[in-house]
Parts: sequence; C-alpha cells; structure tokens
Amino acid sequence: MNYPIARRAAALSPSLTLAIDAKAKAMKAAGEDVVGFGAGEPDFDTPDHIKKAAIDALNAGFTKYTPSSGIPELREAIAAKFQRENGLTYKPSQIIVSNGGKHSCYNVILATCQEGDEVLIPSPYWLSYPEMVKLAGATPVILPTSDRTEFKVTPDQLRAALTPRTRLFILNSPSNPTGCVYTPDEIRALGDVCVERGVLIMSDEIYEHLLYDGAVHKSVASFSPAHQAHTIIVHGFAKAWSMTGWRLGFLAAPEPIAKAIDAIQSHSTSNPTSFAQKGAVAALTGPQDHLPRWLAEYAKRRAYACQKLNSIPGISCVSSQGAFYLFPNISGTGLKSADFCARLLESEKVAAVPGIAFGADDYLRISYATGLANIEKGLDRLDRFVRSLR
Ligand SMILES: *Cc1c(COP(=O)(O)O)cnc(C)c1O
Repeated sequence: MNYPIARRAAALSPSLTLAIDAKAKAMKAAGEDVVGFGAGEPDFDTPDHIKKAAIDALNAGFTKYTPSSGIPELREAIAAKFQRENGLTYKPSQIIVSNGGKHSCYNVILATCQEGDEVLIPSPYWLSYPEMVKLAGATPVILPTSDRTEFKVTPDQLRAALTPRTRLFILNSPSNPTGCVYTPDEIRALGDVCVERGVLIMSDEIYEHLLYDGAVHKSVASFSPAHQAHTIIVHGFAKAWSMTGWRLGFLAAPEPIAKAIDAIQSHSTSNPTSFAQKGAVAALTGPQDHLPRWLAEYAKRRAYACQKLNSIPGISCVSSQGAFYLFPNISGTGLKSADFCARLLESEKVAAVPGIAFGADDYLRISYATGLANIEKGLDRLDRFVRSLR
C-alpha cells in the first residue's frame, strides 16, 4: 500500500543526537568498549528526595489526571522560582508545565507561528528548533555564528535579519550545543532589538544553573516589563535536577500566549505525569545541595577536556562557560563533521555528535556529562585518530 505521509512529517529528519546515542549504546550492549560523548543528559542520578516525593505520591494514589497545565502546587512553586531567582513576577496562570522542555518549546512555536512566519534561530542551534518551526508551517531563518565570536549573534546581525514576517527569535543561553553563555549586556542588547521591533523571544533557559568560571545567567525577560512582555521563558527539570526521563518541562509566558498553549496542550497531551509533578515540586522546594557537587565535577571535566582538545593538532576549542558541552573546531583535520564522527566511531569506538546536526559542519559536540576517566580515555583515542589522519 502507498501509505500517506503528510508533508509536514515527510520533511523532518529524525534527531541525529538520539540516533548516535542509540548506536553507541547498541555497540556497548554488544560488548564493545565504546566511549560515549554523545549524551545530552547528566550522568548523575536524580536526587533521592525527588524520587521519594514521586514514590510517596504513587503510594498515596496520586495516579489520575491532573489539570492539563499542571497541578497548582507545582505552578506556584515555579512562579516562586522565577520570583526568587530571576526577580520576575508571574501568576501561576502564566506557567504551563509540559512533558519536557522540548514539549514546552514545541507548544510555544505551535501557539505563536504559522505559514508565512519566519523564526530567527542562531546557529549552531539545538537541532529540534528548526524542525519544530517547520512542523508549525513556518520558516526557520538561520543566523550563522562561529567560534571567532564565541558562537554569539550580535544585535546588528539580528536587526539585519528582521523582516515584517519575523514572528519569533529563539535564544538559548547557556547553549546546547556550544556551551556559550551570553553576558547580561549582550542579552539585554538582543532583547532591546526585539522589543523595539515587536518580535517575540523564546528564551530557552534550561541550562540556567550550569555555569562555570564565574559566568552569570540573566534572563532576557528580567530587564524591563517590556522585555518580559516580549519573552516566553522555557525551562525544565531535565538538566539541573537530572530528570531527563521524567519528561517535565515548564514555561512562563504572557497571559494570552499561556492561554493558547493551555488549549493546545489540553487537546494534545493533557497533563504531564501526575506523580512526576510531585517529584518536581520537591525538586524546586527541597535542598539544592546536589548542584554545587555536580558543578564542581563538571568544571573539572570541562577544564581537562578543553585543554586536551586544544593540544590535538588540527583541533581548537573555545572554553565555553555553560551547560555540559564543548564544541571543538575540527576544520584543521581536513574532515567534515559527519565523516569525522563516523570514522571516529568505527576506528576508535568513540561517539561524538557531528556539528552538521546543529548546522555547523566544522565542529563536533563533546558532552562532558560522563566520568573523567572516560573523558581521558575517549580524548586519548580521539587524539590518536586525528594524528592517524596525517
Ligand atoms: C535538554 C534540552 C531541553 C529540554 O529537554 P527535555 O528533556 O525535553 O526537558 C530543551 N532545550 C535544550 C537546549 C536542551 O538541551
């Protein structure tokens, strides 16, 4: 039979990061000594008090539908987080809890973009953004950056890309895949352009808490009421609380947008998992002492990996200050990223994600959400691989 596949689905490419991770895991399961730099998730376990809150909720029979945008207790805890950490006032009705930060992003794009609209996305980008924009029928417009500018777009670059069709600008700092962190001044300048021109910003702040070397995070929404009125903040529990499998993200939006998203979610996925939401309440209101420990560990790995990568001929790596990724430039090796990664996995059993997946073919994404011993072993192999090319 000739199965009907809708244009919007046929146009998608499956997630390359998930594909490489799956291949590395399959090789590992087959007994091969694979070093994986592909992970887009922390290697630490979810803190116990969070698990316990979810287990208690299950045992207490908290297993039914909840309000589709999340339980009031969690939406209030999220509003309190924005007040406490970002100085931003939101009513619980402006907060929507979804099935992961990815789902939150998709809800935002579906609620605000349609055919004929343009969405500005700096590259290297998180690979799902352009695909989500296409699913919504809108057109992704890529703003290229490179390691020479620490992967940051400038206000001039943003201004030059604006057209009457521009609906949304996607900002992700700290960034996946580059780890780059915009300074507060840089964020404000980009926000100013959007406010001036009436363009919405989707600010993906899921790596807010993962910062090194004294870098600070400032939400674009926090500079003025006008900035807040132009911004939708996307966030989630996956990274700072290591809850990737729980599928819980959240967003804070101007009221009319929150309302539209609530309607979309109520007809598509309904509520995020009931007992997982109880765990999330514990994540926000309980102790945060896991975080400094994790950050100290990430910082050690990052310092080692960055220094080691820069010692390999043909590779250079900017020392980005956030998330748990490095984005080394491999153009000196003479290989493009997909070829580089395929051969690296084949010959040295090291899995890294080719930059082409993020719109940047001269780079690799190295995740340091894996133990230091693993990082040493993997980068020694990568070193040997690159030297073998000469
Ligand atoms: C991990 C991640 C998310 C959200 O992931 P979920 O698992 O869906 O919560 C959102 N944006 C970026 C840039 C990410 O790296």
